[in-house]
Amino acid sequence: MTLLDDDPTDALAAVRAARRTPVRGLLRFCYGPMDCGKSTLALQINHNHARQGRRGLLLVRHDRSGAPRITSRIGITREAVEVGEDTDLRALIRRRWVAGQPLDYLIVDEAQFLSPAQVEQLAELADEVGLDVYCFGIATDFQSHMFPGAKRLFELADELQPVQVEVLCWCGVPGRFNARVRDGEVLREGDTVVVADTGPTEVEDEIPSPARPESATLRYQVLCRRHFRLGDLGPSAGGHGQLRLT
Ligand SMILES: [Zn+2]
Repeated sequence: MTLLDDDPTDALAAVRAARRTPVRGLLRFCYGPMDCGKSTLALQINHNHARQGRRGLLLVRHDRSGAPRITSRIGITREAVEVGEDTDLRALIRRRWVAGQPLDYLIVDEAQFLSPAQVEQLAELADEVGLDVYCFGIATDFQSHMFPGAKRLFELADELQPVQVEVLCWCGVPGRFNARVRDGEVLREGDTVVVADTGPTEVEDEIPSPARPESATLRYQVLCRRHFRLGDLGPSAGGHGQLRLT
């Protein structure tokens, strides 16, 4: 098949037809523990590309704001398109192109929650229509196992980049693991994504709920590998700078 074939069963045919020259895009995964500034970096990269006249689209899975936008902890927010569990990213991009909104790059936040199939779709978009794809996310879950989406990104990405803003464990060593904590104990079992009574709870929810007793709260704490293994939350567990889920 040539680049200009117009096969109606080919989800990307129209996109390829609109691209006159074969170009290769880059698939990059920037990863780090919670609170390391990934969303801030995502929005900075978007700003840098947009300023050069490049056309981008922001995508997100399970953003902490609960709305389809990318929200950074330092207060910057941009509208984004929510990616559903079954969203075909090729079809989503194709609809944009057909509607006269060509794209040069994609930014995907919370990319660990993508399905492996969706990561493969991103690789196809990079290879076949030359989109640059920047994914941001967490590598491992609260059990220190790779998220399926993150695993597929490690396997397929052209570039892997640890986010440089370091989050420190209470001991001062760079934190690498997101421990899920209840009642001062590191939880080792449970669902990968916690759903609360009131609906989906964002994994990175940072708003404390003083109205609820500590025993009812679930929070995350970034630990070094040693203290994650030992389940050691340090001398001031429950103190400053920790993330809490309600
Ligand atoms: Zn430590």
